Amino acid sequence: MPSYDPNNIFAKILRGELPCYKVYEDDKALAFLDIMPRAPGHTLVLPKAPARNLLDVSASDLAHVMTVAQKVAKGAMAAFGADGITIQQFNEGAGGQVVFHLHVHVIPRKAGAAMKPPAAEKEKPDALAEQAKKLAAAIASG
Ligand code: AMP
Repeated sequence: MPSYDPNNIFAKILRGELPCYKVYEDDKALAFLDIMPRAPGHTLVLPKAPARNLLDVSASDLAHVMTVAQKVAKGAMAAFGADGITIQQFNEGAGGQVVFHLHVHVIPRKAGAAMKPPAAEKEKPDALAEQAKKLAAAIASG
């Protein structure tokens, strides 16, 4: 497996070099909205420590990322009136991974509504900002 590339787009977001629609942050993880959501509120949860994917992340960072994914999932159920949550996580190109800093997708689902295809359409900045505010508040209120 190739080594971690510190110039991947999520590393730049983690360093504050690129913006994101943040919904949660602590000392070990960051969660922000996917800008090409498969459903409204589609969120990505990342460890702050460099890790390419599931295959090289430390067990403790992985456990923490999943703990944060659970917080986001519960917040998304409340904030978006979701009926369910889909979790996705891709590893290496052959596994569907496009950005090579580990991230877990948390996708709120409505009964009967299909997900959009991956990276189908960029959401409007206003809509993302509004959703991020709503989701961040729901996560914070726990
Ligand atoms: P994957 O590596 O297959 O999990 O796909 C990367 C995901 O990151 C896709 O769902 C993209 O829509 C999303 N994405 C790419 N660039 C950004 C960005 N700057 N901010 C938020 N999400 C992004």
